[in-house]
Amino acid sequence: MPTYIVLLGPPGAGKGTQAAVISEEMGLAHISSGDIFRENLKAQTELGKMAQEYMNRGELVPDDVTIAMIRERLSRPDCVAGALLDGFPRTPAQAKALDEMLATLGGKVNLVPLISVPAEVLVERLGGRWTCRAQGHVYHAKYNPPKQAGVCDIDGSELYQREDDQPATVERRIRVYSEQTAPLIEYYRDLDLLCEVDGTQPIEKVTEALLQAVRSIAGK
Ligand code: ADP
Ligand code: ADP
Repeated sequence: MPTYIVLLGPPGAGKGTQAAVISEEMGLAHISSGDIFRENLKAQTELGKMAQEYMNRGELVPDDVTIAMIRERLSRPDCVAGALLDGFPRTPAQAKALDEMLATLGGKVNLVPLISVPAEVLVERLGGRWTCRAQGHVYHAKYNPPKQAGVCDIDGSELYQREDDQPATVERRIRVYSEQTAPLIEYYRDLDLLCEVDGTQPIEKVTEALLQAVRSIAGK
């Protein structure tokens, strides 16, 4: 049976940073809805152009398009063993759609780690975030600096600061998270899938806590 893990947490909690390590370690596909939107934007597809308006305002892209995009992604061959979802679902409607999609794939959500970080820390995290142009690898000016300023350690591409990481948009995104995404915490807690991890610890400590939780469900 495939394994599906949903990483939950506010913008800047460290979902992308942790998903990269854990997906590799567990042999799961890493599916980041934000990365897929940004790839579409770079390629100037219709989806990318449409999503850009919402992303720049710090709002959510409408459920129907987002759900269709993830349904297609989950059907690809690299997801046969399962996937680690980073940034999806973000609304109750997306969570319900995900349950249906996974049922047709013969699986279900197996674990929902929630990376908890208070709002004031998020603003500093996103203000110092540098993202790689080629593949979305993530750094922080203070907490996880690249070896050479402005250059990705992994693929050598240019690092940039995301338009939506400016303080005003960050505030909006945190509000959107509280209003639209935070209800999922109760949804998954009721299903006994939630596992809360303290995201204010150093990156390696968060990884350790997450790996422990993920390994404990492997094979169940
Ligand atoms: P998300 O995907 O949840 O938005 P990211 O993984 O992109 O979060 O992390 C946001 C920023 O915070 C990045 O600059 C990243 O390097 C940094 N970061 C991630 N985890 C930690 C941590 N545990 N401590 C300090 N900084 C972190
Ligand atoms: P972060 O790393 O801060 O958590 P993401 O890269 O996941 O941010 O998302 C960036 C933007 O992409 C969001 O603000 C939103 O506009 C859009 N987006 C990403 N995932 C979703 C989703 N599941 N539903 C709707 N919009 C989304």
